[in-house]
Amino acid sequence: MSIIIKEECPKCGSVGGLFVCSMGGIDCADCGEFIRMAKPEELDQMEPVAKAFKKKREEGKMKTENIVPFKRKDVKAYLDKCIRKWRRIGNDKSDLKKEMAIYYIDAFQSVRISLFGELLPKEEKSNER
Ligand SMILES: [Zn+2]
Repeated sequence: MSIIIKEECPKCGSVGGLFVCSMGGIDCADCGEFIRMAKPEELDQMEPVAKAFKKKREEGKMKTENIVPFKRKDVKAYLDKCIRKWRRIGNDKSDLKKEMAIYYIDAFQSVRISLFGELLPKEEKSNER
């Protein structure tokens, strides 16, 4: 997973929230939408192991294991964006979404504490975006 900086999400308008996922797709951490598949030149900018992924895709062989390099900083930023997104949904949306938000926040916090040893602390409303 790697952050793509300065590209605006076409679905929610967020800047800085787009990530290349382990399957070579681009997802938005702010709205949770799949945006598009990564372009070859975007994969070229990544580590050599990601180029192997590109080659497999060109050959029509999809790999199921993760071969995109993990960068701690980017993984943490991704998790924090997901947790904040679901906190916002938990505060604003319908009862069903609110109920879902509890589980999503738990799931992302669980990954965060496993990898980084700490939860994303509760924040003031003005800092949540
Ligand atoms: Zn978005």
